[in-house]
Amino acid sequence: MHIKPVHNASCHCGAVELKLTMPNGLEDPRRCSCSMCRKRGAIAASVLLDNLEVVKGEENLTLYQFNTMTAKHYFCKTCGIYTHHQRRSNPHQFAINVACLEGINAYELEPVKIFDGIHHPSDK
Ligand SMILES: [Zn+2]
Repeated sequence: MHIKPVHNASCHCGAVELKLTMPNGLEDPRRCSCSMCRKRGAIAASVLLDNLEVVKGEENLTLYQFNTMTAKHYFCKTCGIYTHHQRRSNPHQFAINVACLEGINAYELEPVKIFDGIHHPSDK
């Protein structure tokens, strides 16, 4: 799997495009066991806030929040694909949907570790 230092990502319909600066490749790829992620099923990886730029379709992103309303989960309002979220456990980071990365087959990452989101560190 080849992650470029600046890698593009997009939703399914192409309305939303992201530019991700990932000097260290895929950081901390994981699934999460929180009530939302266990339904979403996506593999997430971390990028610093400044390293994610929405280059197209900002107006096409919809925000979803729940529980403590801290994390900000974004998805494309046309095709419904989750692209990224601002994390609750580290608000200085976004998590991105690895499957949205251009030319990357997220299935190659399996098995992926599980983050214990249902017992969230911020709840302790
Ligand atoms: Zn879309």
